[in-house]
Amino acid sequence: MKKLGLLGGMSWESSIEYEKFINRAVRDELGGTASADLIIRSFNFAEISELQASGQWNAAGQLLIEAAKQLELAGAEAILICTNTMHIFAEQLQAAIGVPLLHIADATGQAVKDAGVKKVLLLGTRFTMEKDFYRSKLEHNFELEVSIPEPDDRTEIHRIIYEELVQGKVIDASREYLKALIERHAASGVQGVIAGCTEIELLVKPSDLQVHYFPTSALHAAAAAKFALAE
Ligand code: GLU
Repeated sequence: MKKLGLLGGMSWESSIEYEKFINRAVRDELGGTASADLIIRSFNFAEISELQASGQWNAAGQLLIEAAKQLELAGAEAILICTNTMHIFAEQLQAAIGVPLLHIADATGQAVKDAGVKKVLLLGTRFTMEKDFYRSKLEHNFELEVSIPEPDDRTEIHRIIYEELVQGKVIDASREYLKALIERHAASGVQGVIAGCTEIELLVKPSDLQVHYFPTSALHAAAAAKFALAE
């Protein structure tokens, strides 16, 4: 089994789910006492989120790149960035290491394609919804039609992520708000929803929705387990 390096803590509320998903997948496959072989670097998210909010993206990216190099030196055979947003640095990070970066949008795009879904709504931080790094990968590599919510809704989703979910607050009113938003978009032709923030799936579960649901941390973790277990 291959050793995986996880860049986590962004936030730890979702990173611990990654660890559970990957370990369970390995146990399901190998049975008995088997568990995943992981090296985890968990950041203080206050440092990362302050750099994001003040636009110091390069400084945030450098922290991740240095940490990824350390994970490689420690023996990691692939690296995961356990958040969608910080994939903004995926290309630079991949260029700085000699092992594969398992990209969250590849795992997600493949799952959307496999489900036969073409039109998807992307939910995530303002950065993930509005910048090009994530949508373009889904559009170009998987030929998806990706839409995002209206500006006011983007502001509210971003607030829910940073003021509630990464702080461990799972609030019913926010779940209802997201369900109503998703239903409105489904009524206008969207076939599936990408929970493009690793904490959204802590709030909205597949059973809450009538449309296809793509929870990115579960999909990313499943792809990582598959990589680790491959011959
Ligand atoms: N975990 C979130 C994501 O998947 C948001 C936190 C962050 O900005 O990294 O994008």
